[in-house]
Amino acid sequence: MIPECTPKKIRIPLNKTTTDVKRRNGLLIFPCPVCDVINMVSECEVHPILGGQPMCQSCGDIFHIPGGYCTGTEVSSLKIYAALPVAIRKFYIFYRNHPVIQALEEQGLSRIIIQYGIWGFCQKCHHEFSPAVLMNLPQKTSEVVDYRSLSSADEMNEMRSLRQGRCPYCDHRILLVIISEIPHYVVSASENLSHRWEED
Ligand SMILES: [Zn+2]
Ligand SMILES: [Zn+2]
Repeated sequence: MIPECTPKKIRIPLNKTTTDVKRRNGLLIFPCPVCDVINMVSECEVHPILGGQPMCQSCGDIFHIPGGYCTGTEVSSLKIYAALPVAIRKFYIFYRNHPVIQALEEQGLSRIIIQYGIWGFCQKCHHEFSPAVLMNLPQKTSEVVDYRSLSSADEMNEMRSLRQGRCPYCDHRILLVIISEIPHYVVSASENLSHRWEED
């Protein structure tokens, strides 16, 4: 019998970020945190709550831009995240040991991640995987998957393929992953939404 071992704390690399963001003529202007090339993104591509995920025009990495700048007062504290390459096989370890995920679990807020806070793309074909697929990726291929939490045949197909360590569309083995802090306006929007669900 294999003894059950307690999970060790593992230090993982975090997403690179920049706070050097300028706002001019309806554009957000900032250096890519990975290659330093200046990017310009139209503000209308960024949703006021959900933000946006444009691609670096130079290195092809993917950003997450939070939507909070729309209030005008928050552009000075706007933090833009760059995706980090993570092997599909190592995604689970990355996810489980991420300080944002651990903090959400301590606060009992981990369900919010299905709406906001995690983005995963194939590094090669840039297919975007759903958070429901990513957060349910088990560590070992022998672990049972909760397929009920997946809502479509596409998601089930993606889950099967990712469990084999490869993208279902191009066989690539590396994801570009962003895990961001959850801004306060996302938490309150999510709370309003859950109240509405309860009342209906
Ligand atoms: Zn770049
Ligand atoms: Zn792919």
